[in-house]
Amino acid sequence: MNAPSPLPAFPATSYAFTPWVNARNLIGGAWVDAVDAHGSLDVVNPRHGKAIAQVTMSGAGDVDAAVQAARKNLKVWQDLPVRERAQVMYRLRELMLRDLESLSWLVSHENGKTYDEAKAEVLKGVECVEYGCSLPNLAAGTQLDVSRGVNCQVEYAPIGIVAGVTPFNFPLMVPLWMLPQALVGGNAFILKPSEQTPLSTLALGELLREAGLPDGIFQVVQGAREVVEALCDHPGIGAFGFVGSTKVAKMVYGRACTSGKRALCLGGAKNHLIVVPDADIDVAADNIVASFTGCAGQRCMAAANLLAVGDVEHILDEIKVRAARLVLGNDLGAINSPESVARILRYIDGAVQAGATVVVDGRSQSADAGGYWVGPTILDGVTPDMAAAKEEIFGPVLSIVRVKDLSEALKVENANPYGNASAVYTTSGDVARAVMGRAEAGMCGVNVGVPVPREPFGFGGWNDSKFGHGNITGWDGFRFWTRVRKITTKWALQSDQNWMN
Ligand code: NAD
Repeated sequence: MNAPSPLPAFPATSYAFTPWVNARNLIGGAWVDAVDAHGSLDVVNPRHGKAIAQVTMSGAGDVDAAVQAARKNLKVWQDLPVRERAQVMYRLRELMLRDLESLSWLVSHENGKTYDEAKAEVLKGVECVEYGCSLPNLAAGTQLDVSRGVNCQVEYAPIGIVAGVTPFNFPLMVPLWMLPQALVGGNAFILKPSEQTPLSTLALGELLREAGLPDGIFQVVQGAREVVEALCDHPGIGAFGFVGSTKVAKMVYGRACTSGKRALCLGGAKNHLIVVPDADIDVAADNIVASFTGCAGQRCMAAANLLAVGDVEHILDEIKVRAARLVLGNDLGAINSPESVARILRYIDGAVQAGATVVVDGRSQSADAGGYWVGPTILDGVTPDMAAAKEEIFGPVLSIVRVKDLSEALKVENANPYGNASAVYTTSGDVARAVMGRAEAGMCGVNVGVPVPREPFGFGGWNDSKFGHGNITGWDGFRFWTRVRKITTKWALQSDQNWMN
């Protein structure tokens, strides 16, 4: 085991304002300031609107320092059998469960989501780590005697030094979509977390060190665009994973590919939920409200447009009642920044100007004077051409779009350029089958509002919600972070020569 943590544990046990250590870079096993500094930023607790720490903004020089430091122990790490590399994941799992409470408070304080939501995030991260534990049982290659005396074998070889860039909304879980597969696959990983939520990666770095990961095999370079571009361009980095908005995902996918890397870049979303008259009222209302309000709507899997097919008034009424009952600050948390609050309000006001009606209004709700808040909001009479129906709002806003039948619902869903999630609420197998067969989305749900594929199923959307091939979690993730080596072996001269030998 490595040396114990040099960082203090995050001490919060409630939502009370709690400052913590500044977010620095983890290079070669030490927390250091940026050598190529571009100033620093406040890390703001959105519930209070006050800085709990500062984050150092690094540059290309820091990315290069991380690449150089990764080289030191890379061979040692790669030479370990996959079973030994997976032992780090077993220990990380135990350490995350040991620190479940403080990790959850840390995520809640840096992101603004509620404690329960943060805890669910940490536990989903644990599930990803468990998948990493299982990899030795899955990663055996195949082999076959392809001819007399000739054997072909495939094995999964590390790429070397790889990088990941993550968004603000799941500061602990999204890095854990990538890390277990990349590390157990034998790589050294450089993470650039969101500059808005860089603190839980400090805790993760400490836990990986305590779990016995050699120095330099997990490193963190804090910052923003300069760091991301340097990660895309650095010739010493072989693979690039990204999760964030579509605009940036598309840009960095092109940049990383241009520099010869393999890249998988997940983008934003505009998820459509279809509700038909035969849907179970309780299931539909509970799920749809949870889907658009969970994490204050700041989820790439959140319900955005509700396609109301025919007469579903009884279900819509129930959705409005349940959404209006939610208590801001308790049931849903804060919005990440004042700019995001302004953006969300712009979409709501724009829809009203274009003819929509606000039937549940969270615009002037607030749970704490200093924080950034928008309460659950439902717009009715939204039409597919309105910005609120087309673009990602990323807040607790549900747009009801009235359609006459299932074909029209699917037409609206299919016309949206995003393709992350789609769901249908029905008790009819035929309806479910029609939607599942035709929705333009990579992750679909039947009576499930947030159809996140649980491990071992891979996470990833389609169309403008993802650039690159495959999914970021599950087996696809392992394939993304490894290279397939093909070995052909012949040990003895064959007596029966043919055209093949
Ligand atoms: P973002 O795109 O602004 O930032 C994501 C990362 O990119 C951050 O680390 C940031 O520092 C970096 N970045 C920002 N601008 C950049 C630029 N011009 N050049 C290079 N790097 C840049 O996203 P966000 O606001 O942090 O997160 C919210 C977005 O992420 C939403 O669109 C949401 O749908 C999406 N998201 C998608 C998934 C998914 O699985 N598809 C999951 C979570 C979040």
